Amino acid sequence: MIAAQLLAYYFTELKDDQVKKIDKYLYSMRFSDETLLDIMQQFRRELVKGLGRDTNPTAALKMLPTFVRSIPDGSEKGDFIALDLGGSNFRILRVKVSHEKKQTVQMESKIYDTPEDIINGSGTRLFDHVAECLGDFMEKQNIKDKKLPVGFTFSFPCQQTKLDEGYLLTWTKRFKASGVEGMDVVKLLNKAIKKRGVSLVFCTGTNACYMEELRNIDLVEGDEGRMCVNTEWGAFGDDGRLEDIRTEFDREIDRGSINPGKQLFEKMVSGMYMGELVRLILVKMAREGLLFEGRITPELLTKGKIETKHISAIEKSKEGLSKTREILTRLGVEPSTDDCVAVQHVCTIVSFRSANLIAAALAGILLRLKENKGVARLRTTVGIDGSLYKMHPQYARRLHKTVRRLVPDTDVRFLLSESGSAKGAAMVTAVAYRLAEHSRQIAQTLSEFRLTTEQLLEVKKRMRIEIENGLSKSTQDTATVKMLPTFVQSTPDGSEHGDFLALDLGGTNFRVLLVKIRSGKRRTVEMHNKIYAIPLEVMQGTGEELFDHIVQCISDFLDYMGMKNTRLPLGFTFSFPCRQTSLDAGILVTWTKGFKATDCEGEDVVGLLRDAIKRREEFDLDVVAVVNDTVGTMMTCAYEEPTCEIGLIAGTGSNACYMEEMRNVEMIEGDEGRMCVNMEWGAFGDNGCLDDIRTEYDRAVDDFSLNPGKQRYEKMCSGMYLGEIVRNILIDMTKRGFLFRGQISETLKTRGIFETKFLSQIESDRLALLQVRSILQHLGLDSTCDDSIIVKEVCGAVSHRAAQMCGAGMAAVVDKIRENRGLDHLNITVGVDGTLYKLHPHFSGIMHQTVNELAPKCNVNFLLSEDGSGKGAALITAVGCRLRQELNNK
Ligand code: ADP
Ligand code: MG
Repeated sequence: MIAAQLLAYYFTELKDDQVKKIDKYLYSMRFSDETLLDIMQQFRRELVKGLGRDTNPTAALKMLPTFVRSIPDGSEKGDFIALDLGGSNFRILRVKVSHEKKQTVQMESKIYDTPEDIINGSGTRLFDHVAECLGDFMEKQNIKDKKLPVGFTFSFPCQQTKLDEGYLLTWTKRFKASGVEGMDVVKLLNKAIKKRGVSLVFCTGTNACYMEELRNIDLVEGDEGRMCVNTEWGAFGDDGRLEDIRTEFDREIDRGSINPGKQLFEKMVSGMYMGELVRLILVKMAREGLLFEGRITPELLTKGKIETKHISAIEKSKEGLSKTREILTRLGVEPSTDDCVAVQHVCTIVSFRSANLIAAALAGILLRLKENKGVARLRTTVGIDGSLYKMHPQYARRLHKTVRRLVPDTDVRFLLSESGSAKGAAMVTAVAYRLAEHSRQIAQTLSEFRLTTEQLLEVKKRMRIEIENGLSKSTQDTATVKMLPTFVQSTPDGSEHGDFLALDLGGTNFRVLLVKIRSGKRRTVEMHNKIYAIPLEVMQGTGEELFDHIVQCISDFLDYMGMKNTRLPLGFTFSFPCRQTSLDAGILVTWTKGFKATDCEGEDVVGLLRDAIKRREEFDLDVVAVVNDTVGTMMTCAYEEPTCEIGLIAGTGSNACYMEEMRNVEMIEGDEGRMCVNMEWGAFGDNGCLDDIRTEYDRAVDDFSLNPGKQRYEKMCSGMYLGEIVRNILIDMTKRGFLFRGQISETLKTRGIFETKFLSQIESDRLALLQVRSILQHLGLDSTCDDSIIVKEVCGAVSHRAAQMCGAGMAAVVDKIRENRGLDHLNITVGVDGTLYKLHPHFSGIMHQTVNELAPKCNVNFLLSEDGSGKGAALITAVGCRLRQELNNK
């Protein structure tokens, strides 16, 4: 079926037989829809081939990633320079993009000569020339001293690995400068303009690019979102695919070109070769006596004598015929009216073929977009540029019609890209600039969280100072790091024995435990426990309510274990700062974490517990010890590993304890031996000594916490706060337009929404971007692929700092112990507990590394505690019972 449209456009006085004659002669240049559909399918297959990692090297379509991931979102603004090299003119433009109410683009441009000798000379000269023109342009624009970003539309096939890099694969069109192929043209240009101090953003120009799903681009990492792919479709057919539709004229054009065998599709469709195609056809027809009564003139035989603009003129519907006569007369062939009609028709066939081929390839892309999107009907806009499309009287209309015929179930809108590819370059530059500016600002924000070794050493030094303040009698009162004596003076020796009750209060859960410790050859610890919830209103109600609730839970547990009638010794793990006067007396200094019950601060919590047990009048218990969870953790690990003399918690809160020399514990009489000191290091920084490294986000988290101004170190390091820090950063970044399209959702405004366990999930190395996105989606944060990358970065920065800060504190402790003992080298074990430490994918590793780096004279071993608060409390209680017995026996 011959395309019927061919005739439709044609004016009426056309002589039918003349047209038929030409139609027959140029039969092979006229495609049926079947052929076009076949070309479309072939093109589509080539697209896929070009996208595949393994098939790309041999694919004709190079499908070059442009690293332009977003299309302009309208928020670009600024002043840009665009270079447009590779079209018919070398142009330099200045583009100002602003968006007061709606986006406006203001442009000034200048065309520069590119003389043949420069185009075909050395690459250095070419780029020097470009740089020279740029200099001239900037001088004329009075922007010589400005550092404007430059977009470089370089309309040749380039392999891009990043936005500002492009390796020229091969010259096309009339360019043939030496020493450029295989080189990074951005580098070449940069080299040439270095003296002028211009920053460059590179982008390839037109031919055909479209937004491809990233998952389909094997050459680029990542599988989320879309990236603009430059098809370089001019090379379609370079592998022989188009041989059966190429004509002798196409072959002749190719043979006479500077790049034979290459860019075969381009040579069939582009305006650059169209005039030549027509000329070659006319020459042949004249030779065969079919035109001009066989007259052949030197002009007709001269390459380049018929240009694309002539074809546009010839095909004009009104003056077309007279234009034809004019043009042919200039060639000296003395045309008859029949000749003119025939030549008109030749032009029509050649330009129509071009429009049809472009339409077929475009249809291939549209079909692919449709498949990618999985929609029944594709709605899309195609931006087109190029003088053939713009100037030729029929070309655009024919192209549109064929595209719509080949892919009927699409609504395609064609948009003339008005100011040429340079505007495209400027927009791409603007997008790139926006993205670069965003990532610069994001990096800057997060850089506050990246502490240098010097800063960390400073943290370690300050921690040491605060430790001394806490230990010394004269400064103890005002010290932030309280260094509370625990009356635990030895670690377990294995002789502990008996059944103990333990309470664990102060973490996420409140637990009651029964711990059976058996000594002897086969030491065993058997534990039974039950978890009880503490409702928020109890946590933050009155002290009496809180302790009544605790006793109620104990009662339930004893019933459950059937042990209400035995007066069990009890260890009370109470993970808040307590000033102890003995093993079984501890005055609550201050609530931390989520607790805020009234009438407890300043009271002995063992007394409060005993009172509550009495109030209930149901059972009796022997409260032997009040235990901090750090101490319990240390004791548990020490039971297995005698070198364990430090306890560390990295869970909801952050705290540590260690065995300090009695002589240094000034608050307690006696200089002999050691005592475990509960550091309460979470309060480190409460005197302002960390303010220089705290960020505005830390301050925001602090301001809205239950205890503003307190536990500043803990608020930088512990599970309860990391998520909140992240959330505050995300809010700020959204406000600044870097995230979530600038929209702060209700979810994001919700305090506590970003739990630390999400940090662990998001930061997991095994997680693909897609999964990060689904986590965010799950949280109600509608995110793009770029958003998830940023969120992951934010999480990483926050947890990394937390681990480093914690490590710096620990480095201070181990060095202190080493110095206490006058050692050059210390081997020591830290017992650790806490879900942040256990479950976060990087926290423990970074913390270990920091300790090693900051305390090189210590060999620090970390041992994960198994239920320190339960087992440890029981062990301490056992030790307490033993000591009491020894005292009684004296
Ligand atoms: P606690 O310190 O309250 O005794 P945990 O050691 O279990 O109890 O710590 C609980 C805290 O750990 C939670 O408040 C939360 O901040 C954090 N967390 C919970 N799950 C994770 C996780 N998967 N990764 C990192 N931190 C977590
Ligand atoms: Mg705990």
